[in-house]
Amino acid sequence: MQSLTQRAQPVDRRPMTWVEKIYLWNIFRGMLITLVHLFSKKVTINYPEQTRPFSPVFRGLHILNRDEEGRERCTACGLCAVACPAEAITMEAAERLPGEEKLYREEKYAARYEINMLRCIFCGLCEEACPKDAIYLTETIAPANYSRRSFIYGKEDLLIPDPNTQPAEYAKARGQIDKKKKAGA
Ligand code: SF4
Ligand code: SF4
Repeated sequence: MQSLTQRAQPVDRRPMTWVEKIYLWNIFRGMLITLVHLFSKKVTINYPEQTRPFSPVFRGLHILNRDEEGRERCTACGLCAVACPAEAITMEAAERLPGEEKLYREEKYAARYEINMLRCIFCGLCEEACPKDAIYLTETIAPANYSRRSFIYGKEDLLIPDPNTQPAEYAKARGQIDKKKKAGA
């Protein structure tokens, strides 16, 4: 039969010599290989205690952005959901009521906003589609979990901290966004 790869080796069917029969040489060779690997440079790291540097364009978990006054930027226009090839985003829009101007930037806001991280392929199209600077993918890796429900991230999981109540945490989250913008990701 003609070989496609030309890498086929004929099987050696000669009877074993007495040295081969006691397997000592093969055991010694195996241990020598182990010994060499003990002192060679490690190719693995102790994750999660150690992590490798991420590419500036790495895309991880999403965040929903607020403006400098702490108002939610998302206006529930649905463009991110339409752009999402995995149909991972769902939302429900609501109208802003008088007195809620400090909570929501626009007249309409997302009363419910969910991303199913089991569907998400972290393509970043939702971020590109958003006209309101409201959604970003961060450097955070989605943590492992035991149930499917825990991979559905709601608005409370995605919204960045309010600058009025948690200025340091807000600045940290904004830092991730600014870094992303700088990298042009
Ligand atoms: S990153 Fe891609 S797959 Fe994930 S929610 Fe956004 S558009 Fe959908
Ligand atoms: S995140 Fe952006 S694109 Fe998605 S609904 Fe909100 S404003 Fe629209």
